[in-house]
Amino acid sequence: MIVNVNLGSIRLKSLLDALTMSESIASAAADQPSPVKRAGRRVWSYTPELPVTQAPYFELPFSLGESLRYLFDVWRPFNQRFLILLIAIAAWSWFTPSLERAREFQFDWMLEIGLRNLVIVLVVAGGLHLLLFTFSRQGDNTRYDARPLARNSKQFHFGNQVWDNMFWTLFGAVPIGTLWECLLLWGYANGHVTMISFAENPGWFVGWMLIIPLWSGLHFYWYHRLLHIGPLYRWFHSWHHKNINTGPWSGHAMHPLEHLFLYSDVAIHWLVASHPVHVIFNAMLHTIAGPTSHCGYHEVKLTRFFSLKLGDFMHQLHHRYFDCNYGSYETPWDKIFGSFHDGTEAGNEYIKERRRRMFEKKNAA
Ligand SMILES: [Zn+2]
Ligand SMILES: [Zn+2]
Repeated sequence: MIVNVNLGSIRLKSLLDALTMSESIASAAADQPSPVKRAGRRVWSYTPELPVTQAPYFELPFSLGESLRYLFDVWRPFNQRFLILLIAIAAWSWFTPSLERAREFQFDWMLEIGLRNLVIVLVVAGGLHLLLFTFSRQGDNTRYDARPLARNSKQFHFGNQVWDNMFWTLFGAVPIGTLWECLLLWGYANGHVTMISFAENPGWFVGWMLIIPLWSGLHFYWYHRLLHIGPLYRWFHSWHHKNINTGPWSGHAMHPLEHLFLYSDVAIHWLVASHPVHVIFNAMLHTIAGPTSHCGYHEVKLTRFFSLKLGDFMHQLHHRYFDCNYGSYETPWDKIFGSFHDGTEAGNEYIKERRRRMFEKKNAA
């Protein structure tokens, strides 16, 4: 059985590699200075402790203790995930129309959800941009790549990276994320989606909340990997990859079709019994963590005494090198399919060698 699984993985890996050997690799090679040219130059202004490590859930041999420790850490009070849950609970309690109103698709209640999401994005992405880039409150302290965001660049709509990024966030992510949320609320309101409550089923209510980030990561890896294939990359995902260096608004700077994919993980609630607060939390993992994970800073000093770990160095490596780290910290797929970059010099060499082998294979075909 193990042999079959491994063989299956290897075959799938070759297929994925072959399929991905097109626009994304070509553009990685074309747009990026080669690691050789970069030798002797500092690649990053700041890195977290290296090598980058992933969640221990999928490490062998499996350690329950390590996994629980990791789980407690990511959910610890006032860590990002905990705050997103609080925001989701607040959004459901005070800023979501009643399910009675959601029985029919009406512009008024859908607009209310849209405005709520707009305010959240403006506060999170706009707030971080003002703090980190406009007022530069912490300078380049813990900033991964200290180069300025692009201005007067033909690469970006309006010739400006931030304006481009803002436009696609406000006119793509906000309405499309809102539509997904409205569709699910309509489903609950009409009994098409099975609704549970904390009082009736506290175990599953909490358990599902813990699983949602894993589900979201799994979904993200596969649709993201798909978008790195040939024309899908060229037509759609390349929009996001214009952002080699990222800021808070870059998280949702993508083609609207990609927004449709990004938020589509909430469709799982049609199949799995849940509560609207699960859906809102699921959607907020994109709405909020999109800007935070792309903010370009590992830690953000919010007050004199309070810093939050927000940046995602694993994904920052993906923006720099394109053909590695398609998934999140909580998905095993990059390691299984050989595309994991741990951020070290050895990791650079490994990805470079992998890319060379893939080019060779493509040219030989
Ligand atoms: Zn990204
Ligand atoms: Zn990508």
